[in-house]
Amino acid sequence: MSRYRTILIFGAPGSGKGTQGKILGKTPGFYHCACGDVFRSLDTATELGAAFLEYSSKGQLVPDEMTVRLWHESIRKTAESGKFKPSRDYLILDGIPRNVAQAILMEEHIEVRRIFHLSCPDRDKLVARLKKRALRDNRLDDANEEVIRQRLATYDAESKPMLQHYSGVPRNDIDASMTPLQVIHEIIKGLLDETASSPEQ
Ligand code: ADP
Repeated sequence: MSRYRTILIFGAPGSGKGTQGKILGKTPGFYHCACGDVFRSLDTATELGAAFLEYSSKGQLVPDEMTVRLWHESIRKTAESGKFKPSRDYLILDGIPRNVAQAILMEEHIEVRRIFHLSCPDRDKLVARLKKRALRDNRLDDANEEVIRQRLATYDAESKPMLQHYSGVPRNDIDASMTPLQVIHEIIKGLLDETASSPEQ
């Protein structure tokens, strides 16, 4: 089986990965998969659902093997259902892989063609966005500032080193403090470069 042609949206919690991913997912030729949404769709009475609650409420990552297995199962079903057509669509991944170990586990499934890194050095801005989201989306893991700070620390310690792991992959570093419209503009410019070299699109 060939690997899924994949674009990663990468950035700290609150950097806008989901907002941008959802916009792209509405575009023909792209399928958006957010790992956090896959977790949130689980029944919390199941073993995995309970593990998700336990780790996410502390601002920690769910263990890698469990996470990659769940993601793979979910994307395989989506491809089987025809919603995601791997021969036609780019897979837009948001929130996975989230560390180098996950990137290695996923290598047999995905071919990473480009990374959009939504970068926001202003941590207070991220915290403010997450607090707003907590109220809007009823996100338990965003409600408490201590958990938010822990999630940002987890990002710095575990997720950021992934950029080094993918240093051979074309990457666009985008200022995540811009408006959503400006950010999607930058992403689309990068995607036009990407698809120009890909005759299938
Ligand atoms: P955000 O975009 O704010 O980081 P997500 O919805 O992507 O939020 O993730 C929420 C929580 O779900 C994370 O804090 C983590 O506990 C868990 N999670 C999501 N994706 C992964 C992953 N790839 N590996 C491990 N845990 C994950």
